[in-house]
Amino acid sequence: MATPMKARDTFPKLKMYIDGEFVDSASGDWFESFDPYTAKPWCLIARGNAEDADRAVKAADRAFTSGPWPALNASQRGALLRRLGDLVAENAERLGELEVKDNGKLLSEMAAQLRYAPSFYHYFAGLADKIEGAVIPNDKAAFTYTLHEPLGVCAAIIPWNSPLLLTAWKLAPALAAGNTVVVKPSEYTSASTLEFVKLIEQAGFPKGVVNVVTGFGPEAGQPLIEHPLVRKVAFTGSDRTGAHIYSEAARDIKRVSLELGGKSPNIVFADANMDNAVKGAVSGIFAATGQTCVAGSRLLVQRSVHDEFVERLVDFARTARMGNPMELDTQVGPVTNLPQYKKVLGYIDVAKGEGAQTVLGGGKAQRPECGDGWFVEPTIFTGVRNDMRIAQEEVFGPVLSVIPFTDDDEAVAIGNDVVFGLAAGVWTENIRRAFTMARRLQAGTVWVNTYRALSYTTPFGGYKRSGLGRELGQEAIREYLQTKSVWISTAEEVANPFVVG
Ligand code: NAP
Ligand code: MG
Repeated sequence: MATPMKARDTFPKLKMYIDGEFVDSASGDWFESFDPYTAKPWCLIARGNAEDADRAVKAADRAFTSGPWPALNASQRGALLRRLGDLVAENAERLGELEVKDNGKLLSEMAAQLRYAPSFYHYFAGLADKIEGAVIPNDKAAFTYTLHEPLGVCAAIIPWNSPLLLTAWKLAPALAAGNTVVVKPSEYTSASTLEFVKLIEQAGFPKGVVNVVTGFGPEAGQPLIEHPLVRKVAFTGSDRTGAHIYSEAARDIKRVSLELGGKSPNIVFADANMDNAVKGAVSGIFAATGQTCVAGSRLLVQRSVHDEFVERLVDFARTARMGNPMELDTQVGPVTNLPQYKKVLGYIDVAKGEGAQTVLGGGKAQRPECGDGWFVEPTIFTGVRNDMRIAQEEVFGPVLSVIPFTDDDEAVAIGNDVVFGLAAGVWTENIRRAFTMARRLQAGTVWVNTYRALSYTTPFGGYKRSGLGRELGQEAIREYLQTKSVWISTAEEVANPFVVG
């Protein structure tokens, strides 16, 4: 239902950030952002289009090619990033609260994410002046060396589940490498990015180095990925949009990195520490209301402990406290947006239609503490076969499919039998099994006796349809650099010019 104009007039209006200024959209239009806990709009965001995207890309291109940014040395870039990290730390609480208001994830989770976010800036700040080329031994009469140079303007396209964290994963290496950036946050969660960008200015980055264009994917994101001056698209989101971006980028041979979805197996062996494995299963699917790319949405349990494990899991998950995400003891919050809410409920129906048995939840949460918010009951299905849609498609909500297996080979076969390959969990006390499973599972991250662990030091990304390229760790900076080989001849004269030298 549309909000009456009068009420809309009282909402804060959040402008875009282009070339060091907060500006209205070219069209002058706004759109509403919702608070998922109340299911009501609370602010207005500038609705960007191709004209805004073009202004932002041109500003980023100017900042890349002229003015103070390209004149900075790598240590100076590092110093700016370090200051940015410090400012994020000082503002972590405020930014975390803003994210909760916009995406409904738990304050306890978002505050922890924001307290951790400075580490990503600090890590890449340190890396900025450690980007080293090589002197290459050459069989020709030449001194050859490599330079690792920035790409130019990078577009960073961000989803709604962890806006500022996923922005940091792109912004920090992109800036450390000397690029300039246009960020396009999700239409559902733009508010925190527009607050964060004030810190960019405060840290002292020259204008145009970081810009934010807000709006809808097809209106504000599409012109960014099509723009000829954009040299790289760093994307986190669904595999569908990722595939579209990949094909669009092909036209101009733009670089891409794609962090996409998953259907990750979380595998419990009979020899696991059962208390830990139960917590690991819960953390894999009910933390963040299941709205995490690495969700352990397929729980593979060894047959000999299947029934006992499911019983313990259901008993534990049943106690999850739902409600206001701003309250620190809430454990499961609402789903972030209305289409996603409907999608999750739709998948619950799909699973029931496919013959899965509901052993927990199975629909909307109608608890008083959930009010009118977009809440789904933590849901567990047993009797799932791996070829069912509920086991193959990403739900991105608190819905778990439990699949039994007999031995290691079957666990690997089921674990890998999916188009995705983002992450996998293994619960075992057997060290040989831990190493073997880690090698055999097709996933960019394998966790043994833990789940959802991440660090700025450790590469993160997908196998198969879960993506391309890696974020975090030293590898990540290569995604924002290109290699130039320089040849300085040491020959006294140019040899036969008609023959390749
Ligand atoms: P999405 O629908 O693919 O959207 C992601 C971003 O792309 C949004 O900013 C969206 O803008 C934008 N977009 C949509 N169409 C576009 C176009 N034609 N051109 C340019 N940009 C466009 O994903 P989501 O629903 O926001 O996020 C959930 C998905 O992200 C899940 O699949 C999840 O697994 C994945 N994810 C992956 C990781 C990872 O690291 N691998 C991490 C977190 C989430 P609008 O929102 O305005 O449409
Ligand atoms: Mg919102």
